[in-house]
Amino acid sequence: MVKIVKGKYKNVSLRVDYDYNIIVKAPKRVSDSYIQNFIKSKQNWIDKQIKRLSNINEFKKTYNFKDNVYLFNKEINWTGNKKAFYENAFYSEILPLVKQLAEQCTLSYSKVALTNSKRLWGSLNNKKEMKLNWKIVILPKPLAEYIIIHELCHGKEFNHSKNFWNLVSTYIKDYKSKKKQLDKYSFLLKDSVLL
Ligand SMILES: [Zn+2]
Repeated sequence: MVKIVKGKYKNVSLRVDYDYNIIVKAPKRVSDSYIQNFIKSKQNWIDKQIKRLSNINEFKKTYNFKDNVYLFNKEINWTGNKKAFYENAFYSEILPLVKQLAEQCTLSYSKVALTNSKRLWGSLNNKKEMKLNWKIVILPKPLAEYIIIHELCHGKEFNHSKNFWNLVSTYIKDYKSKKKQLDKYSFLLKDSVLL
């Protein structure tokens, strides 16, 4: 289904959601025929996105968040409070891991806070305060490590410049493959895992 939203937007933009709807946002003055042509011109990209999202939706089915919790991709049958499990795992596993990786890479940070973002795995501001999504504990450990090192590198290179990726690659040679693997887990950000 195509959903067209007209409003105070500067440009025409297009995205595909997890239910394969095509969402177009456009400034009010843009005509419907322009939008139809715009969609047509993006058809290859749309097809790729639908393929990508259907792979992610298939992968998602391998998880059972109703009966289990996951710690670094290990499935644990769990009848207790899931939120408490994940919070505890964040503080007992992730915080020491950040400290250890910062030491190994000789990169610095000031503190780490837990976030509940539906969009981001992590961030680092100009005071080197790191925010990490608590769902990072669900990921395979190498991917959690990639996210932490990525954020630590922002302490030296704020943008995703060439220098930034060069710096990341000095710690994680196959970071491109890590980035690609991480995309499979993007559903975790949007979905509730506290069923
Ligand atoms: Zn970044």
